[in-house]
Amino acid sequence: ASHNTDANCIFCKIIKGDIPSFKLIETDAVYSFLDIGPLSKGHALVIPKYHAPKLHDVPDEHLGEILATLKKIAVAQGVENYNILQNNGKIAHQVVDHVHFHMIPKPSDTDKEG
Ligand code: 5GP
Ligand code: ZN
Repeated sequence: ASHNTDANCIFCKIIKGDIPSFKLIETDAVYSFLDIGPLSKGHALVIPKYHAPKLHDVPDEHLGEILATLKKIAVAQGVENYNILQNNGKIAHQVVDHVHFHMIPKPSDTDKEG
């Protein structure tokens, strides 16, 4: 795996531990944590542990590990309904320039009650 980091990148700082995060799963190449502004309870982010701005900057060898991590988080949370989202570029609503995959649970109407 590459050890490339960007000193100004908020997600690189999270990987280093310089900014705190609620860690979920960490592997050799991948780090995952709860989103600070969740769209729903359990909204998680999965990122490579090196600085890569967009999806096309991630080596093929890590794509499986990223998807497997998203799957593990969904299984661990026991969510039946959820969206996987990944934005590339400002126009496409990418705000943080360190590639990240969202796992966004979609609560059912019964989940929302109580
Ligand atoms: P984007 O729009 O770039 O796809 O999504 C960026 C996501 O990163 C947003 O959902 C935002 O809430 C999340 N985020 C931004 N800064 C932080 C942070 O410092 N900590 C955590 N946990 N999430 C962050
Ligand atoms: Zn970064």
